[in-house]
Amino acid sequence: MSAGADDARSRELAEALGRVRARIGAAARGAGAAEPTLIAVTKFFPAADVLRLHRLGVRDVGENRDQEAAAKAREVAELLDGPLAWHFVGQLQSNKAKSVVRYASWVHSVDRGSLVTALGKAVRRHREEAAAGQVPAGPCVQQDLTCLVQVSLDAEEHRGGARPEDVVRLAEQIAATEGLRAGGVMAVAPLGAAAGPAFDRLQDLSHRVREILPEAAAVSAGMSQDLEEAVARGATHVRVGSDILGPRPPVG
Ligand SMILES: *Cc1c(COP(=O)(O)O)cnc(C)c1O
Repeated sequence: MSAGADDARSRELAEALGRVRARIGAAARGAGAAEPTLIAVTKFFPAADVLRLHRLGVRDVGENRDQEAAAKAREVAELLDGPLAWHFVGQLQSNKAKSVVRYASWVHSVDRGSLVTALGKAVRRHREEAAAGQVPAGPCVQQDLTCLVQVSLDAEEHRGGARPEDVVRLAEQIAATEGLRAGGVMAVAPLGAAAGPAFDRLQDLSHRVREILPEAAAVSAGMSQDLEEAVARGATHVRVGSDILGPRPPVG
């Protein structure tokens, strides 16, 4: 894997990362908000880019497909000289829970009770298998898997996330599940609607969750197009792909 620190791609990534960090810093200062954690979403880009970003100081990467993420995590594991947390941010089928818990520290996309159950079971099983030396120990051996409740902010049809009225119940279910930690909430701004008011609704939901689970304080919001709006409204984690890595290659 060629990823010399001074190759052209590394310089390109360094510049793009610098621009995104400057945008985040300016948005946080402008709003008097804390600077969020930057998650570089590396989907569709090779493991070599993950290594380059890691050398540039990135410690959190996001992926939205298990097969791709698992392969990349395996590929870079031996080559990293420091910590790197994998954040799973895509729709997750319950039968993939077993694979995801082997590499992910965070799952941002928990949207239903059956997935909470599957993730808890997968963590506990992974811990047993790792203790027996059957599989390499993933991050959830040391720490509970952090799960965020993904909420749909669409006005009508609720796709890609739980309904707002179900968020507190799901967070409580996570908190009550051995092996999982309730981290907070996550959302993607609705298509064709202003991001700001949607992120305000996400903050309201975060408050409701924190009334019951004060430690579940993470708010994962903001992508390349709308990170300023999210940072101004108190996002603790932003998930940025294309403005760091470039346009995604066409599928196929
Ligand atoms: C791809 C993706 C991102 C990053 O999107 P960009 O527009 O490329 O910054 C963030 N969140 C989720 C859930 C994603 O799937």
